[in-house]
Amino acid sequence: MAAKKVYILNTGYLETDKNNVVGGWTVGTKDTPYVKNEWIKLPVMAFLIETDDGYILYDTGSNPDAMKGYWSKVLQQIYPLYQKPEEELDKQLALCGVKPEDIKTVVISHMHLDHAGNLQLFPNTTVIVPKADFYAGQAQVKLNKDPNTHGGYVKGDMDRYVGQYVLADGDVDFELVPGVEVINLPGHTPGLLGLVVHLPNQTMILPQDCIYSSEIYGPPARLSGLCYDSISFMKSVEKVRRLQKKYNATVIYAHDEPSFKTYKLAPAYYD
Ligand SMILES: [Zn+2]
Repeated sequence: MAAKKVYILNTGYLETDKNNVVGGWTVGTKDTPYVKNEWIKLPVMAFLIETDDGYILYDTGSNPDAMKGYWSKVLQQIYPLYQKPEEELDKQLALCGVKPEDIKTVVISHMHLDHAGNLQLFPNTTVIVPKADFYAGQAQVKLNKDPNTHGGYVKGDMDRYVGQYVLADGDVDFELVPGVEVINLPGHTPGLLGLVVHLPNQTMILPQDCIYSSEIYGPPARLSGLCYDSISFMKSVEKVRRLQKKYNATVIYAHDEPSFKTYKLAPAYYD
């Protein structure tokens, strides 16, 4: 039993102010007090992993109705989504010859708008989520009336029925199937699950928003602009670096446009 292939699914992109991605990217000084911000593209990826034990999907991208009122006005302003019909998750899976019902397990890195947006496709599937983030997101969307106060969580995403949620404990890294490890990388959010995938020819680390971009990874590591816990954030980045060295692994950055342009996209795959 082993992991055989990783497909990178292109589910469109967000745009945002770069200060949200890299903390303090544009900062004024005495001589230049007013600095122009940068407005950047954030590719949004999901990952399909083929194993001897069936298909695993890691993250689901954003909901196709995001900009049609499914997201709050604030989210549509701060992170507008651009997603072509062929970039919707089911179409991307179809490129790999896979239907949502073929997926045995979904792993969600964290419950934010660009990762947990398509659980409606998985009403009978086991979905593994980071417990601390799942609880935080549920409280945020259930107990605050105004959707503009829900941070990166979307009530529609948090209200999905699936086959079964498995709430992964933040203290325990585990092997999901042979060749696929689930690792805890908290900091960006109260809990965040990354994957280490051992393929026949290489090891890939998928840290999602633990490492937004090459600027975050460094070295030295930099804090992202949006961060729940800065100390665990930095520890998690260094955990990825240790694993990368240990396995001589390829790290796929979550939202880095220059790197994204170099990635092989489905139906091409890594093996
Ligand atoms: Zn993200």
